[in-house]
Amino acid sequence: MLPERLPVLVAGGGPAGFMAAITAAEAGGRGVHLLEATPEPLHKVRISGGGRCNVTHACWDPRELVAHYPRGSRALRGPFSRFAAGDALAWFHEHGLELVEEADGRLFPRSNRSSSVVDTLRRAATRAGVTLHTGLALQSAAPAPDGFALQLRGQQLSGRSGGVTARRLVLATGSHPSGRRVAASLGHSLVPPVPSLFTLALAGETLLALAGVAMDPVGLTLELPDGGIQRQRGPVLITHWGLSGPATLRLTAFAARQLHACRYRARLRVDWSGGRSQTDLAELFQQARGAQARRQLGNARPWPELSRRLWQHLLAEAGAMPERRWAELTRELQGHLIRSLSDSCYAVSGRGPFGEEFVTAGGVPLGEVNLTTMESRLQPGLFIVGELLDVDGITGGFNFQHCWTSGWIAGQSISGSTSVAEISGSDRRC
Ligand SMILES: Cc1cc2nc3c(=O)[nH]c(=O)nc-3n(C[C@H](O)[C@H](O)[C@H](O)COP(=O)(O)OP(=O)(O)OC[C@H]3O[C@@H](n4cnc5c(N)ncnc54)[C@H](O)[C@@H]3O)c2cc1C
Repeated sequence: MLPERLPVLVAGGGPAGFMAAITAAEAGGRGVHLLEATPEPLHKVRISGGGRCNVTHACWDPRELVAHYPRGSRALRGPFSRFAAGDALAWFHEHGLELVEEADGRLFPRSNRSSSVVDTLRRAATRAGVTLHTGLALQSAAPAPDGFALQLRGQQLSGRSGGVTARRLVLATGSHPSGRRVAASLGHSLVPPVPSLFTLALAGETLLALAGVAMDPVGLTLELPDGGIQRQRGPVLITHWGLSGPATLRLTAFAARQLHACRYRARLRVDWSGGRSQTDLAELFQQARGAQARRQLGNARPWPELSRRLWQHLLAEAGAMPERRWAELTRELQGHLIRSLSDSCYAVSGRGPFGEEFVTAGGVPLGEVNLTTMESRLQPGLFIVGELLDVDGITGGFNFQHCWTSGWIAGQSISGSTSVAEISGSDRRC
């Protein structure tokens, strides 16, 4: 049973809500209630990182960390100077979970299973005395003399009215519309939500026949109809609908709003040459003409790291017979090939079917929250954390890092601002 008067109610059993609840409870004992609308808390953690959960990124300096947030960026310097990636690493270590760094800086649990992260958070919540209520959703909130009057909905109420009061309310509902509605009803404005971190569709492009080809580094230049340009360089994967891979996801994160505004129609220029200049490419071709003069173009690439399938595709696009020998390559054909290697142009026709890591840009503007406490500037006693804020990061563990940071700061300030009284009532442990 849920008591009718709660010292602290955290709405949303995702990573940000768990971190806020655990931190508040570890500092103040019992009295922290965590509400999760679905039967399974931490669902996104479980499915994250391909089932491995990319917990954070080995980027230790807050000044560097902020560069990975298209929405948030410099404003996050303050929060990250209090709790950044190194603090998350230490926090998980103290709570029994070792994180391991991969070559590209991403940090995963040593077990390589997201369930270890879920178990760690649930265990920490139980130990700290957080009371978890699953299948119970926050429907509405209104300011009341001693905090907030809340309306809850869920089978757990078994016929009883869902009216409760909470002295402190933490909104940690992620990108779910219900949390945005509650925030708006309490006076917050909302930056309209748009998808971020998605793959690009290139419908009708012959390139799609190369699904499965991965290249690194690839230079991507997105030319938007409003004249805007976005550039990224890094690994790219060709899929059966378009382009994916870290560089594509970074590109769409930084261009999320512009792409949404133009309904995901834009021009994409791709540099497949690994960043080689036109002069370098001409030199490589010259060397190939000499070194492999008698070999057929289709069987001998200008450099070994160039995907064979991509090279054969570019030959076909340039109208070069693969049986032709390197010695017979005309200057004109060489010019065509160098151009398509360094600057191929494709029409972006939309978003891919699913993002590898899907997040929502938009939410409560950072200016409406005091970032040293995560408390609303408009509604004392209300704290807003995680993806509900207008913050999103690129792929690599940065989105979870923001959840750990904002949740920890909110938990700390709640424990400092109120004595989290011990109350009786529901005792269902995490
Ligand atoms: C497939 C996928 C893979 C990802 N992989 C990674 C990764 O490896 N690394 C990374 O950094 N990021 C990753 N992300 C992004 C990351 O999952 C999110 O940024 C993060 O989960 C946001 O956390 P949150 O706590 O703010 O919200 P959520 O995780 O969305 O949690 C919010 C919770 O609140 C509940 N809720 C909503 N409304 C209510 C209500 N009214 N009352 C009660 N409960 C409510 C929801 O059911 C949910 O459980 C991934 C995302 C996806 C979709």
